Amino acid sequence: MTAAGSALLPLNQALPWQHEQWQQLCRLLNSDRLPHAIMLSGAEDTGKRHFAERFIQRLFCVSPVDDVACGECKQCRLYLSGGHPDFKRIEPESAGKAISINAIRGLSEFAVITAHQQSWKIALVAPVEAMTLNAANAFLKTLEEPREKTLLLLVHDQLAPVLPTIRSRCRVLSQGLPPPAMARNWLAGRLADQPGDKNVAVDELLARAGGRPLRALGFAEANTLDEIARFEQVLKQVQKGEAAPVSSAAAFEGQPLNQLLEWLLSYYSRQLIHSAQSGKTAEPRQFVFYDLLLSTRKKLESKTNLNPQLVLEELFLSLSQLA
Ligand SMILES: [Zn+2]
Repeated sequence: MTAAGSALLPLNQALPWQHEQWQQLCRLLNSDRLPHAIMLSGAEDTGKRHFAERFIQRLFCVSPVDDVACGECKQCRLYLSGGHPDFKRIEPESAGKAISINAIRGLSEFAVITAHQQSWKIALVAPVEAMTLNAANAFLKTLEEPREKTLLLLVHDQLAPVLPTIRSRCRVLSQGLPPPAMARNWLAGRLADQPGDKNVAVDELLARAGGRPLRALGFAEANTLDEIARFEQVLKQVQKGEAAPVSSAAAFEGQPLNQLLEWLLSYYSRQLIHSAQSGKTAEPRQFVFYDLLLSTRKKLESKTNLNPQLVLEELFLSLSQLA
């Protein structure tokens, strides 16, 4: 049982860049035209799950105020506790894993039983692209049999495409990256509430997070900038030949490879941009290394079985040969 929302971002907080879509869904709801399946599609860590969870709470709430859940009624409390009987959450067992056909079978059973509370029955599937092909085909059956007051809410992180047959049966709401100024204001406001260093670099956090505000907030909470600085220090030493690639890679054993790879990509892109700006002609091997980083990321996204430590060693070795 997972409680809704998180300590990082409680569900009573609206995200400003989602205001219009919130209004749009509420208008559909209030005029009884809510589609039976909605897919929120956009980059990771921009708040799609948060939006979905807020909307689910709004649907369950018996006394919403200005189209926002009250947070006080029995239905709200049931939902926030993670124990609402008319809600089903379908997620991978751990990040990066697939959603199995068994999970979807559970959803099919859930979809046909009568709601306990005589109101909405809602399932959240996140991220939808994590479904195996078998799971997706089984899910299609549930999707093809809409039931009254039953909502399927799907989150698509755009890490992989979704079956067109699924996509075409949903109302797709695209959620792009928020406008930079809006993201910046929001993040600055959030960090002002946090204990600790108030002067933390909002712009740098957002840049590191690729403009994704929730990821930037997560970085701030976990002091990730310090961690990145340490990692980049090692990269510099490896690149200059001051540190041995294999033993340097060993120091990061156990850390998520996708995260290290993002940091390495960011480090190296800045280097390429910097040398281009200073008028240096790039050598072909510099692009070969960049291609290696991109193709490694692609392999990771396609869930190819990789040995993370060997991959990191290979990348560090290639980096050391750039000098
Ligand atoms: Zn309520």
